[in-house]
Amino acid sequence: MDPTQDPRIRTVVIVGGGTAGWMTAAALARLVAPGGVKVTLVESAEIGTVGVGESTLPHIRAFNERLGIDEAEFMKATRATFKLGIQFNDWARLGDSYIHPFGDYGAPGGEVPFHHYWLKGSRTADIGPIDDYSLPVVAAREGRYAPPSDDARSLMSTYGYAYQLDASLYARFLRTRAEAGGVTRIEGRIVDVTQDGTSGDIRSVTLDRGDVIEADLFIDCSGFRGLLVEQTLKSGYQDWSHWLPCDRAVAMPCASDQPTVPYTRATALEAGWQFRIPLQHRVGNGYVYCSSFVDQDAATDRLIGRLEGEPLKEPNHIRFQAGRRTRNWVGNCVSVGLSGGFIEPLESTSIYLIQIAITKLIELWPDRRSAATDAEEFNRQMDLEFERIRDFIILHYAATERTDSPLWNHVRTMTLPDSLAGKIELFRERGVVQEYREGLFLHPSWIAVYLGQRVVPRRYHPLADHRADKDLVAALLRLRGTIAQAAGRLPTQDAYIARHCAYD
Ligand code: FAD
Repeated sequence: MDPTQDPRIRTVVIVGGGTAGWMTAAALARLVAPGGVKVTLVESAEIGTVGVGESTLPHIRAFNERLGIDEAEFMKATRATFKLGIQFNDWARLGDSYIHPFGDYGAPGGEVPFHHYWLKGSRTADIGPIDDYSLPVVAAREGRYAPPSDDARSLMSTYGYAYQLDASLYARFLRTRAEAGGVTRIEGRIVDVTQDGTSGDIRSVTLDRGDVIEADLFIDCSGFRGLLVEQTLKSGYQDWSHWLPCDRAVAMPCASDQPTVPYTRATALEAGWQFRIPLQHRVGNGYVYCSSFVDQDAATDRLIGRLEGEPLKEPNHIRFQAGRRTRNWVGNCVSVGLSGGFIEPLESTSIYLIQIAITKLIELWPDRRSAATDAEEFNRQMDLEFERIRDFIILHYAATERTDSPLWNHVRTMTLPDSLAGKIELFRERGVVQEYREGLFLHPSWIAVYLGQRVVPRRYHPLADHRADKDLVAALLRLRGTIAQAAGRLPTQDAYIARHCAYD
């Protein structure tokens, strides 16, 4: 075929070498380059990366598996620990604590979702918090970890897990694989972008030293600036800061001599919240805050005052605006990572969104004839992902009873998106979680946050009344004991890592 008539994508340029850039490069090296597509990544050491992003969701395991990555090798290289969930402290009221687990409540089976039995049981007896009925929660609280079982009848099959990792080491790890798979890396700062006069598509990017790099498809992984998708193609940005007012973060790793717990901690503070992410070699910390209610110096002091070990670096200050690009794919440019939007890291969703964008891009891999239709479908699917995550994150703020500071007074009384207000009302009324068939945050995640933050339904499912009170309470208490024993039999996470995947 005449090469000028060939509609296939032959050349791809990825702009940016942060987590998004190298995840994209490693995926394309494995899944697209073997078909004859030349992939080039441009990154600038002078600009650097955002330098945070360490807590992940279980989906990352499927991404790594698809790339043929060995788990132990990956964990050693990224100094990773296992993650069974996120602990939320002080969100509904000061002193409250719950864990959002990567797993289900109760044992396998049951006519109605487990929380209905728990709701019924807790009306007649003191059966303890629903946390006590989740194996990953109890294991996490005790610092224990073992891989889940594939046997669907086993209690050990009721959970999944993710990782807490060093993001810069993950990017380095993926870079090695991407380069081995044929990706060309170019170091340099892009100072100019050329567009086609008719279609507006991007033709080339120009580096500070004058090199011009052309491609059929451009992937914008340039971070918050959105060098191609926004600065050149003017996608537009949907601002969600009226619902998610945090707009700054200060991050600072510290040393730790404590056991590495298998969960990330999110503690609500006066003007935002603090994260703590334990890795094998250090702990990642940050204060995500709203600049209308605390200034940078006070936020930094607050974080330093709460560190549980010696600081290892100077504070890293980051500004952002909650929201997403109006269109993540414009013409021949697809945004992946922070260039496509950002929702604060409360539920560790950004790396998931990177993964999803890469997966959908590969599913909808365009040729030059189909790009417009592909873009429309990609944007529709990414809209859904972003909006579902947005609503789930807002729930953490909206379901507060705190009155101790202006931030909490604002979020407690703000008008919610209709999509979320309806969901909360449904749960309050009869304990039903408005379900998605796919995507992030299914049934147990919503249960964890609703009940963890005192959104207690007025009614439970009528079928739960098939169990007599006395029998039900006895069965629940037995199950609680079984879960406690099962958790107690697991090794500590430190012992498991030392045996299987500690870095040298
Ligand atoms: P960046 O890391 O900013 O990379 C941008 C790249 O583009 C860099 O290589 C840069 O050099 C390059 N670049 C930019 N302009 C040019 C140019 N002109 N020429 C050449 N190169 C250029 N996510 C999670 O999933 N879990 C978390 O726990 C988590 N925690 C977070 C905590 C905070 C406080 C923040 C702010 C974010 C967090 N995130 C988290 C999000 C996560 O950090 C990002 O999703 C991830 O790092 C991806 O960033 P990126 O690659 O899109 O952008």
